[in-house]
Amino acid sequence: MTKGSYLAAIDVGGTKVTTLIAERNGKIIARQEEPLCTTSGAFVPRLDNAADNIADGVAWYGPSSQIESMLRGMMGEAGVNELAGIGIGSAGPLKAGAIKNPPNFAVNVPEGMSGSPLYVPLVEPLASAFSAPVLLENDCNTAVLGEAFFGVGRDVSDKQSLHLVYVTMSTGLGGGVWSGGHLLLGKEGNAAEIGHILVKENGLRCGCGNDGCAEAYCSGRGIVQNARVRLVNAGLRTQSLLLDLTRQEVGNNDGRQATEPRATWDLLEFISPQIVFRAAETGDEIAASVIGDFIHYGGIVLSAIANAYDPAVITLGGSIAVNHPEIVEPMHIEMCKHLNVSPPDVRITPLEKRAVEYGAIVLAQRAAS
Ligand SMILES: [Zn+2]
Repeated sequence: MTKGSYLAAIDVGGTKVTTLIAERNGKIIARQEEPLCTTSGAFVPRLDNAADNIADGVAWYGPSSQIESMLRGMMGEAGVNELAGIGIGSAGPLKAGAIKNPPNFAVNVPEGMSGSPLYVPLVEPLASAFSAPVLLENDCNTAVLGEAFFGVGRDVSDKQSLHLVYVTMSTGLGGGVWSGGHLLLGKEGNAAEIGHILVKENGLRCGCGNDGCAEAYCSGRGIVQNARVRLVNAGLRTQSLLLDLTRQEVGNNDGRQATEPRATWDLLEFISPQIVFRAAETGDEIAASVIGDFIHYGGIVLSAIANAYDPAVITLGGSIAVNHPEIVEPMHIEMCKHLNVSPPDVRITPLEKRAVEYGAIVLAQRAAS
């Protein structure tokens, strides 16, 4: 007999962690969200933890302890004694059941210890804490599972007939592909690294180190960087609605008066995607060009996805897409200019900001079966 009637699903983002308890059929009975602990926690040298199969670095257990205590609290409240399976969707890169060198973690490495590479094990500590099988997948692959079973594919009983791609437009740009009944995975599980499709020769520098990737234009980070570069190229001219809005925002957030002068150069640091969108709507030329690039290169990357995978539907998730559904139509128009397949439907995910959570439930169901 399989043990337990309950599943745990976990969404580990760059800054927050969400845990859920669900029934085996996917019905959610509890959900909790906390800021992810990234600045404290035990730092354990790898030699003490051979079970993690981490051969070349040191392991750091803060996040797994946090997840364990969140789950224990929720299980206590819900009267759940044991878990049949645990599914985790996490921001990558992932290796050996752990996050490897997470870019958003600021860890204080003890003196005298090499800090690199740094691992945040998730599978082994949670499997042993709850004596349950654990499946871990990167967030975009997890999200497309959520989409196939709880989102646009929810009412499609024959999952083999589903061909869909999930694209996240948030801090970065990524994707996951569901094709013909399964998640598409590459030789190292990294299929659909669509953020790093080249869209512009000698274009803006991407976080990956290459120039002209789609992510350098079509992501939160890309929007901000593009705005900074364009402002600097324009000589940081004083007549800029984008800078005025940023100045206001800084004034609102740090308790200073909005009118207090602040060096224009300093303001660049405070530009956010939200401010760029707002400035573009109000007619700021530079902001409008940045959003124009976002839509133009976004359309190109959608066409690359459509030509490569021939999906019936591309769903867009991530905070930038979910907060700005107005981008869908112009991006669709741009996409259609470059297609050699019939155009897929492009829409915002019905799961809104919770596609990874639902996908983690699917992973937990698979772990339990
Ligand atoms: Zn890149």
